[in-house]
Amino acid sequence: MKVPFLDIGRLHQTIRGQLDEAYSRVMDSGWFIMGPELEAFESEFAAFSEVKHCVGVGNGLEALHLLLRAYGVGAGDEVIVPSNTFIATWLAVSQCGAKPVPVEPDIKTHNIHPALIAAAITPRTRAIMPVHLYGQPADMDPINELAQKHGLIVIEDAAQAQGARYKGRRVGSLGHASGTSFYPGKNLGALGDGGAVLTNDDAIASKVRLLRNYGSTIKYQHDLAGYNSRLDELQAAFLRAKLKVLDEWNARRREIAASYSTMLDGSGNELPFVPEYAEPVWHLYVIRSERRDALKAHLEKAGVSTVIHYPTPPNQQACYAGFMFGQLPIAEQFASEVLSLPMSPTLCGREIRQVVDAVRSFDEDR
Ligand SMILES: *Cc1c(COP(=O)(O)O)cnc(C)c1O
Repeated sequence: MKVPFLDIGRLHQTIRGQLDEAYSRVMDSGWFIMGPELEAFESEFAAFSEVKHCVGVGNGLEALHLLLRAYGVGAGDEVIVPSNTFIATWLAVSQCGAKPVPVEPDIKTHNIHPALIAAAITPRTRAIMPVHLYGQPADMDPINELAQKHGLIVIEDAAQAQGARYKGRRVGSLGHASGTSFYPGKNLGALGDGGAVLTNDDAIASKVRLLRNYGSTIKYQHDLAGYNSRLDELQAAFLRAKLKVLDEWNARRREIAASYSTMLDGSGNELPFVPEYAEPVWHLYVIRSERRDALKAHLEKAGVSTVIHYPTPPNQQACYAGFMFGQLPIAEQFASEVLSLPMSPTLCGREIRQVVDAVRSFDEDR
């Protein structure tokens, strides 16, 4: 039997009726962009995330990019980002003409190390963008404190952590604003691309609303040279259906992660560490092994699909050739050691057992 890394098709079957109904509602309405489904989703997701404003946009990268634009970040500015993240965090900064300044992660949490940020702050620094990597909240209190001291903006990249909590509060509500992604594989995924900005700041929410829609709120009147980056009615309707079960799906992910952590204890791999302040949502369950490539091949042979998040850190990507980012040994070490085990709310006990047995049989081979 094969264990898929993530079977979105199977997940959607569990709410097939609700998704079909969402499709029919939009189809019958004949209204596809900037309508009642988007408005309803924005207010429902804002309430879920415990913030005042949600602004739906085209995808997660655009959520972060439009936010930086709304804050006026541009050429000559610097933005602090994690050295180990999906490239979108960095690209949002680059697209504004600003410079991403990487800071290395805490070895235990994989999230940006708050104690290393101060040394990266210069007179050009405008913002800090922590990422809640793999669904684990970053340590936000010291980051916010530092930002306040230096007059910096904090923008959370919450793309992997919808529903997670930090000291009881939802991620995405912890900085000045946050960007999230509804890419299909995310914990709250659309049936296509989608994203959103969350903030308690009225002015920033209004600015992003302008920027996402050609700089316009009144048809054919353009106040800003904006973009076309909107969350369409169909995706908003699907997201409304999935938001209703998100907490339940995240709870199931937590159970699966707990099973992995118990059953893989002592297996010789570095297992995820959960700090006391964190209630993660396990977008990914990531282990580390010095023999990662051999382990991955062994699992594949045992029918277990795994993925590497991510095999090449942003500083080593061709698109950043010629940039000087300095030494980032931890990001590079992680890239060679991380391995994401199958994770999906539909994973059953038999599949979990198969994954665990496969990992453990690799150790016995040594
Ligand atoms: C998925 C993701 C994004 C970007 O989302 P898209 O919708 O694919 O543009 C940004 N940051 C992180 C950490 C992500 O995982």
